[in-house]
Amino acid sequence: MAPGGQTTVIQRILERRADRPPTSTEETTASIAVMLRVVPPSKALIACADAALRQQLERIITADALDYESIGNESEALRRFLGEFRPVVLTDSLELVRSLRARSVERTPFIVYFAELDEAAARQMGLSAGADECVGRSASTREIEARIGSARRIAELETVLRITLAENRKLSATDDLTRVASRRFFSKNFPREVERAARYGRGLSLVLCDIDFFKKLNDTHGHAGGDQILRQFAMRLQQNLRRGIDWVARIGGEEFAIVLPETTYEQALEVARKLRTAVAHAPYSYDGKGVAVTASFGLCGLNRVPAGERQLAQRILKIADAALYRSKHGGRNRVTATMFGGHP
Ligand code: GH3
Ligand code: MG
Ligand code: MG
Repeated sequence: MAPGGQTTVIQRILERRADRPPTSTEETTASIAVMLRVVPPSKALIACADAALRQQLERIITADALDYESIGNESEALRRFLGEFRPVVLTDSLELVRSLRARSVERTPFIVYFAELDEAAARQMGLSAGADECVGRSASTREIEARIGSARRIAELETVLRITLAENRKLSATDDLTRVASRRFFSKNFPREVERAARYGRGLSLVLCDIDFFKKLNDTHGHAGGDQILRQFAMRLQQNLRRGIDWVARIGGEEFAIVLPETTYEQALEVARKLRTAVAHAPYSYDGKGVAVTASFGLCGLNRVPAGERQLAQRILKIADAALYRSKHGGRNRVTATMFGGHP
């Protein structure tokens, strides 16, 4: 095909693309590009006993816009790394590579190992020890630059991935740990439930509950134990509610909201009592042990949700919270109930 013909094909493709609204992949790519530009520079750790190599790396790194800390001593380098995570580590110590890989930390750095001899056997040793890249010490400055550049790009992509994961979690409608509704979902949808009940003049109740002395449970059984208890706790709440009508949200660390549509004050009080018994009657299982758990409850019930009230959802929440507070101060493991606008 003549060069002119090719240009026409490409032009046509470009024109067609310009007509289309950007696809979501293009948007994602664009926002990742922006994030990569705005994330602070990755901090590298240079841990090289060889002073000449260390100085060479410092020069290259400065040019590559990486922030760095440079140390000659390997055990000091490990100590600093454990104190503060560094996404890129450049080292001439096989021992350090092994120690870094042996740590079962949540995040692992990108490790570039500088082998004494630029030989396959030396590079292999570095890779087996856990390095991501191996470079001979006699490699050209340009090669080292290129390797550091790729280490930086991978570290930055990892940072962006972490940011997007955390953002997604925040935006999620469900809570990762317990699979009940998230705080975000509750904030958005509880007012909608209130409005709907007001529109039809129906009843509605809100129950808040908070696990008693949860800090002590965490201290005794560890954070993983605490998480396990939270999962079982949420499951017990859900199992004792009307499926597809009532809903549970985790609105704090160990605090849950239970929304009971079309439920009067009296009915809600009965539900709350049932829930209190359900969460406390049998031990929770963790690590082969039985763990005793109780929770305090606060309730705000409306037999008929009034129309035209301002900030009604907020007010209901505040009343339920005050009731929960009274349950805590009254000795915990109990239900306190308030009827909206009345004194039962
Ligand atoms: P009280 O009876 O007054 O409610 O006492 P408490 O210890 O339950 O209350 P406090 O609010 O002092 O402690 C709540 C603890 O819950 C503190 C926090 O470390 C822990 N926590 C919060 N979120 C989580 C989580 O997702 N998992 C685990 N395991 N613990 C969590
Ligand atoms: Mg608590
Ligand atoms: Mg709490």
